[in-house]
Amino acid sequence: MKRTNEQAPITAEMSPADLSRRSRTRRSWAEPYKIKMVEPLTMTSPAQRRQAIEEAGYNTFLLKSKDVYIDLLTDSGTSAMSDRQWAGMMMGDEAYSGSENFFHLEEAVRSAYGYPYVVPTHQGRGAEHLISRILIKPGDVVPGNMYFTTTRLHQELAGGSFVDIIVDEAHDTMARLPFKGNVDLAKLQRVIDDVGPERIPYVTIGATVNMAGGQPISMQNLRDVHQLCKRYGIRIILDATRAVENAWFIKDREPGFADHTVAEILFEMCSYSDGATMSGKKDLLVNIGGFLALREEDIYDQARSLVVVYEGMHTYGGLAGRDMEAMAIGIAEAVQDDHIKARIGQVEYLGQKLLGWGIPIVEPVGGHAVYLDARRFLPHLTQDQFPAQTLAAELYVEGGIRAMERGIVSAGRDPNTGKNHHPKLELVRLTIPRRVYTQAHLDVTAECIADLYERRHTIPGLEMVYEPKYLRFFQARFQPLVLETLATPDLTPELALAD
Ligand SMILES: *Cc1c(COP(=O)(O)O)cnc(C)c1O
Repeated sequence: MKRTNEQAPITAEMSPADLSRRSRTRRSWAEPYKIKMVEPLTMTSPAQRRQAIEEAGYNTFLLKSKDVYIDLLTDSGTSAMSDRQWAGMMMGDEAYSGSENFFHLEEAVRSAYGYPYVVPTHQGRGAEHLISRILIKPGDVVPGNMYFTTTRLHQELAGGSFVDIIVDEAHDTMARLPFKGNVDLAKLQRVIDDVGPERIPYVTIGATVNMAGGQPISMQNLRDVHQLCKRYGIRIILDATRAVENAWFIKDREPGFADHTVAEILFEMCSYSDGATMSGKKDLLVNIGGFLALREEDIYDQARSLVVVYEGMHTYGGLAGRDMEAMAIGIAEAVQDDHIKARIGQVEYLGQKLLGWGIPIVEPVGGHAVYLDARRFLPHLTQDQFPAQTLAAELYVEGGIRAMERGIVSAGRDPNTGKNHHPKLELVRLTIPRRVYTQAHLDVTAECIADLYERRHTIPGLEMVYEPKYLRFFQARFQPLVLETLATPDLTPELALAD
C-alpha cells in the first residue's frame, strides 16, 4: 500500500472500512520526542480495585491516583513537560510584580494567538470567571456551541443563561461528520431574534468542543459566525483550551488548508474572536496555568483590576513565575505540526482499535479523547441508572484504568427547576494525556474494554447516594443498584478471573 502524508477529507458517506483505510494510507504518527525520565506505576489486583472503587463511592474522581494503573481521567494538567520546559522552570522570576516570565508569556500569546492583551489566571476557570463577571448582566443570554461545565457555571453565577447553538449532529454519536463542533447559524439567528442582540453580551465558541467528544469547528463556520455576530455588534469569546487540536483538524479535513501550518491556522481562527479564555493545562503542555486574552483595552483594564481580587497581580494571576515560563515555552511546542500530528494520531489509534472490535464509540474520533457510548454499551440501563458512571467504575475494576463520566451526572441540574438535565450524550471519556503513555498502554486499555464489552450484560447500574451542590460529578457518591449481582460469582464468572 502506498503511504503518503496527503489524505482525502472525511465525508458522511465513508464506511468504517474507508475510514480505517484512510488512516492506514498515511505514515504512522510516531512521536517527535524520546523518553528521558520515567515514573513507575502501581500494579493492583482485581480484589484491591473492587475495594478501592467501593471506597470511592463508584466515582473515579474519588480514587487515589496511586491505585490507578493507566490514568485517562483527563488530559488536564497531566501532560509531560519537555526538558526545555523544565529548564524554563529554573528560570522563574518570582518578583511580585513585573516578572520577566510574564513578558515571555505575553509575547508567546501575542505571536501564537494574536491577542494583544493577556491576563494570566491560575487555570481556565479563572479566566472564565473574569470575563463572565465583566460582560454578563443578570438576565443576559450566552449562546455557545455546547456547554462546558465550568464555563456555563460561571455564566450562570454572573446572572446569565446558556443557550446551545451547536449543530444537531453533535448530539448524535454515530454521525460521521468532519466538523461536528460547528455552530448552527439558524439557531444562533433565532436566539438573536428571540432575545435581541443587546441581551447577548457574547457568544462562546469552543474549539474543539470538549463535551461533544473533542469535535472541531471549521474555519468556514468560524468566519460565518463572525460575520453574523459582527452584523449585530455581538462579541465572540473563544474557548481556546484545545484550539491547537482544532487547528490540526482544519489542516487535515478542511479543503484549502493542507498546505498551511497549524500555527497559521490557529492565528486565523483567533482572528474571528474578540478574546479567549484558556486553560493552559490542555494544549499548552503544562500542569497548571491559564489566561484571559483580549483585543479591547477597556475590557482588559477591567480584567486587570478584577484579577487582583480573585487571583493575584495582573502580571502573575495566581501563577508562579516559573509556571508562566513553562507555559510560554509550551505554547511554542504545542503549535508544532509534528507534535500535534502525533498527539492526535495517538488518540485516533485507540479509537480505530476499538472500532475494529465493534465497540460503540463516538465517531469520528475527537482530538483529546475516545468516548465510549454508554447508551449503546449498556443498553439494559436507563439514563437514571447512570450508565456512563457505571461503565467508568467497571473499567477501573477490569484493568485499573481510570476514565471519566460525561453524561447525566456531569450535566447536573437546571438551576431554575432543580430537575436533572437529561443530555442526549451518555459517554465515558478515555482522555489521553499528552506525551505520557505509550502505544502498548493504549493496547492494554483497548483489550480491557473489549473484555468488559463481552460481559456487558452482567453489569448492574448505580444509584446516587450523595450529591454536592456544584459540579456534582467531582464528588458525588454512588452504590450499585443490585449489589447481589456484582457479588454473586456464578453470575459474573469473568469478574473473578479478570486481572
Ligand atoms: C478544562 C476546560 C476548561 C476549564 O479549564 P480549567 O483549567 O480546568 O479551569 C474550560 N473549557 C474547556 C473546553 C476545558 O476543557
